[in-house]
Amino acid sequence: MPSQTQGDGIVYLVGAGPGDPDLVTVRAKYLLENCDAVVYDSLIPYELILTLPAEVEHHYVGKEAGRHSLPQPEINALLAKLASSGKRVVRLKGGDPFVFGRGGEEAEYLGERGLRYEVVPGITSGVAALAYAGIPCTDRRDASYVVFLTGHKAVEKASSGVPWEWVAQARHGTLVIYMGVAEIGNLVDGMISSGMPADTPAAVVERGTFSTQRTVCTALSDLPAKVIEHGIKPPSLFVLGEVTRYGEKLRWFRKRPLFGVRVMITRPADQAVPLYRELRELGAEVLAFPTIATAESFDSGAWEQLRRETTGSHWIVFTSENGVRYFLKQWFTTGGDVRGLSDYRLAAAGDGTILALNNSHIKPDFAPPGAKPDDLARQLAGKCQSSRASVIRVRSNLGDDKIETIFKQAGVETSSLCVYRTFFTKWPPEATKKLFAHPPHVILFTSGTAVKGLAENLEDEELKRLAAGAVVVSIGPMTSETIRSVGIDVDIESKKQTMADVVKELLARHAENKLINGA
Ligand code: SAH
Repeated sequence: MPSQTQGDGIVYLVGAGPGDPDLVTVRAKYLLENCDAVVYDSLIPYELILTLPAEVEHHYVGKEAGRHSLPQPEINALLAKLASSGKRVVRLKGGDPFVFGRGGEEAEYLGERGLRYEVVPGITSGVAALAYAGIPCTDRRDASYVVFLTGHKAVEKASSGVPWEWVAQARHGTLVIYMGVAEIGNLVDGMISSGMPADTPAAVVERGTFSTQRTVCTALSDLPAKVIEHGIKPPSLFVLGEVTRYGEKLRWFRKRPLFGVRVMITRPADQAVPLYRELRELGAEVLAFPTIATAESFDSGAWEQLRRETTGSHWIVFTSENGVRYFLKQWFTTGGDVRGLSDYRLAAAGDGTILALNNSHIKPDFAPPGAKPDDLARQLAGKCQSSRASVIRVRSNLGDDKIETIFKQAGVETSSLCVYRTFFTKWPPEATKKLFAHPPHVILFTSGTAVKGLAENLEDEELKRLAAGAVVVSIGPMTSETIRSVGIDVDIESKKQTMADVVKELLARHAENKLINGA
């Protein structure tokens, strides 16, 4: 994107899809990663907000407990203000911005003030939630048209503008009603008294595309009773027509092995994307709530020293995936290439660390299986003593000095190379409420720092409550120690300290019904 100057401001009215963060468009994703500010509602995949680059401004304008959404004129004014100051703004809306999303009003307002805007369509829930419920909105045999309508204020016909008498005549078609939960009794009465048969097949889809999605299929006249019986809440869609009969038969979404399981992931977002994807492919709903983030940190003096130590008697010691990642990045940006690494010997502790090296086609010279960082340090210190080798420890600003101390106490010459820093992320104010609205069945901790980061973002009581309702999974013994130190019990400790092992364990437990009901 061009760099930002006064006058370059623009608002992208972007559809965020129905809820599953994988159902946003490639363009939406690109704009989110390259904008200056995001203005968002409540019905958007929240992961898109919590995983935004740290420098992007957040503006939440959705509903919160005790407060309605920001009034539309104030949202318009906010968009105009941000764009006028030269910012590239993503106005993120659930589904499609032009389907019951007031996108038209916002575009008009901006246009009238000479401000630039573009529209990025999204998958509307009226299509996506139906697809995930196994209901085709048209079908050659049963429905030749589909009507999207709003149930909001349906009884005040003058204001809603829906010609109910006309839609009640619909046959061989599909009606999809948005925003109808509060009015469903009146809606159904109105439809039946205007001539729609009481036994018309119907369905309600609640929280479509989330792993907590529920679908109830019934006859039109029974819809209001079913809504009460099942405690159906917004966001939900009502579907009227023959196509709803397919809902039972085409239940593909519920068949995934982790369907219904909400897994909270606290690790930094830039490292967690493959895990999010893998868990989602298995049907879990990922609650991406990163509690820490990392950023590159470059120590030119330490690099110059490292470059001088090319005699082959220096060990570079890695104890984290991030250490490997940032080290290799800096290795190449400071002029090195893969061949140069052979001037050093490489040691690694932890399966994730070894995997990170292997993924870059590097096999460490010393990586005792299952060794914790301090085990590795002790064993390597012994080797160094006999061969008079020295050690360069790759670390973050937080990396514990225990490792360096072990080497130093053994009389091994040791220097450190800090390649990244780790910091706690501060969640936006509405995040905790979102988390507790649909709390996790599983909380996954992949580092002690992530545990501390969660404790920073929650009150003590909230932390305990969250953990008490979930299966707590730890990546390994060091992380478990920190989890216990904040007063939480560990239910599962991964044997191999890799994500693959954690996922395997979750699948096994869920197959025995031990995830959602507790360990
Ligand atoms: N622009 C959005 C609609 C906003 S109106 C879109 O294109 O989807 C809000 C209504 O959308 C909700 O009341 C509900 O009827 C519907 N909705 C949004 N997300 C939904 C979901 N995940 N499952 C079911 N209905 C949903």
